[in-house]
Amino acid sequence: MTLYYSTNHKVDPVGLADALLQGQAGDRGLFMPQTIPPFAADFLRRARKLSYPELATQILEPYTTGVFTPDALAELCHDAYNFDVPLERVDATRHVLRLDQGPTASFKDFAARFMGRAIGQLVRERGQELLILTATSGDTGSAVANAFLNVAGIRALVLFPLEEVSTRQRKQMTTLGDNVTSLALPGKFDDCQALVKQAFADPELNQLNLSSANSINIGRLLPQSVYYVYAASRLVDLGGGEPVIFSIPSGNFGDMMGGMLARFSGLNVRKSVIATNANDEVPRFVATGGYRKIQPSKVCISNAMNVGHPSNLARLVDLYGGQMDETGELKKPLDMEKLRNDLFAVSIDDDRTRQTIREAYRDHQLILEPHGAVGWAGLEQYLADHPQDRNTTAISLETAHPAKFPDEVRALTGVEPEVPPSLRGIEEMPEHYEELEVDYPAFKQYLLKEYVR
Ligand SMILES: *Cc1c(COP(=O)(O)O)cnc(C)c1O
Repeated sequence: MTLYYSTNHKVDPVGLADALLQGQAGDRGLFMPQTIPPFAADFLRRARKLSYPELATQILEPYTTGVFTPDALAELCHDAYNFDVPLERVDATRHVLRLDQGPTASFKDFAARFMGRAIGQLVRERGQELLILTATSGDTGSAVANAFLNVAGIRALVLFPLEEVSTRQRKQMTTLGDNVTSLALPGKFDDCQALVKQAFADPELNQLNLSSANSINIGRLLPQSVYYVYAASRLVDLGGGEPVIFSIPSGNFGDMMGGMLARFSGLNVRKSVIATNANDEVPRFVATGGYRKIQPSKVCISNAMNVGHPSNLARLVDLYGGQMDETGELKKPLDMEKLRNDLFAVSIDDDRTRQTIREAYRDHQLILEPHGAVGWAGLEQYLADHPQDRNTTAISLETAHPAKFPDEVRALTGVEPEVPPSLRGIEEMPEHYEELEVDYPAFKQYLLKEYVR
């Protein structure tokens, strides 16, 4: 059975169930698996014949033994991954992996849908009920709410700033119904976040069994290793093969860490290109060995990557033998030489992101949105700097659907991105949300009235 230790090493390792339910370790570190299970020698060849849910079951099995039976895990993966994962060939060597076919049209569905179901099962086994409380500025709320939709034993409440989210974002939350409730506030995202934090700190609300299910949960990391293997296994049919260069548009570096798990399990990765927007604290760290967070983070058009102090950096440092605490202080040096050998880090600003969207369409009829364009530009930069790798197969990750950024895409390519069924349906669906003032006593009253049984 795999145990999970904290990157701060001040608490004892725990099993997956506790790691999932705790989220963050008691010493403010992040959970990491004690062993990264190696793939069998012919694993990739066998993976070619497996569907995405079948492959996910096989990869996640060693991480989850003792917590889920093989049958329960298989059922969970089939239920979570009921959408396509298309790998698009762009030219002789380069490909785009579209991770945007899930219900919220962002790659966060891969992580959130696994974690939601995993936590749901644990809660049911323990005979508990959990209230997931989350504040959102737009996208996270819909991914989390979607992930917990219809999961028995769990109720989810999403707080959002009424005037600050787009109509589409609002509808992604307010049309769900069932066990998901949306609460609109007249304030800003920070006001929503403050109410949620105060509720977590309020002992009188302990009876509600609150959980945040946030982005650093190990349950969101593990499933993000699967699509790297899946994409590599599908290359053969497109005339490519190992080794593979992956390019990953990155913000909080959870996506990148999924790729690292696959690499440490034995996937033959030539290079992991990590591409950030103008929030370049990690490319600087890789270049200089010195880490300085960016505060406040810079506002870029790839807005889901506007992160100035990525929490998963501590996990990367850990993987390379060092230790970094939650403030970003390097407590123990890492093997920088090995890291630089495995990874190429690059920052792409908004001008270059826009230029990339324009040129990818002009040269390859490839439609990218801002996040995927950062990844594609990072790959172009790597290949320009390393001409010896130009014949190596490469896969760039597209993490959101172009229809989520219609204005930018239309202006740069002249093409109106087709709205996928997952986003189209919500236009006509009835909305339900409650409104509340930004006032803690009123919020607490609401929680006690609605959620105490
Ligand atoms: C969250 C997000 C990212 C960044 O992923 P990380 O795991 O935080 O690096 C990239 N693109 C989109 C569309 C996202 O929503």
